Amino acid sequence: MFKKIIDLSHELTSGMPVHPFDNSPVVRKTKEFTQDHYTDHELITGMHVGTHIDGPLHMLETGKNISELPLDYCVGRGVLIDARNKFLDRTLLDTLNTNNIRISHETIVLILTGHDKTWGTRNYFNSYPVMGKDFAQGLVDMGVHMIGLDTPSPDPMRFPFANHKSLLSHNVFIIENLTKLELLVGVKNFIIVALPLKITTDSSPARVIACVRE
Ligand SMILES: [Zn+2]
Repeated sequence: MFKKIIDLSHELTSGMPVHPFDNSPVVRKTKEFTQDHYTDHELITGMHVGTHIDGPLHMLETGKNISELPLDYCVGRGVLIDARNKFLDRTLLDTLNTNNIRISHETIVLILTGHDKTWGTRNYFNSYPVMGKDFAQGLVDMGVHMIGLDTPSPDPMRFPFANHKSLLSHNVFIIENLTKLELLVGVKNFIIVALPLKITTDSSPARVIACVRE
C-alpha cells in the first residue's frame, strides 16, 4: 500500500530529556510475567514530553481539549519545508508558491531544521530555531490545521508565546519534538498520520508517521 513508513517520533522512556518546565516521565513495570503471569506497565507523564501535539487549551484559556481535535486534521498530505540553516520567516513560505507546491486545509506542513540532531544534549531545549511572527501568520493564512516541528517550540522559552497563540487561536495544531524529518527530503508524495491520545487534556503525546506513496 505504501512504499515505506517512516517513524518521526521519539521513544517515550523513563528519564528522557524534557523541556525545563516539565518533569521527566516515569515508565514503570507494575506486573512481572514470572510472578503475576502477565506483564503491565504504568506511565506518569506530562503532556508536553517527547513527540506530542499542542492543542488550543495549552495556550488559550477557553481552548478545546485535545480529544476534540478533528480526526481529519490528524491525517493529511505532507509538505516538507527544508529550513536547515535558514530563518523561519515568510520568504521560506513564498518558496512553496514558487515551486508550485499547493497548500490547503488538508495539508500537514513539516518544518525541517535538523535541530533534532541535538536531542539528548542541553542545547536541544536551550538553543533552538524559533519562528518569526510572519512565518506563523503565513501558516495561518494558508489555512493549514496541523504543522510539525523538529524543535521543542515555535516560540522562545518565555511569555508571551505569541506564535503558539497565533497558531492555536486559528485552529492550527502544533506537533513538537519530531525527529528524522530529513528522511523526507526529496519525497514528493507522502501522508502524515499524527494521532494524540483520546484524552481530556490540553495536549497529548503522539505517534507521528509518514506514509510514503511514491
Ligand atoms: Zn508542547
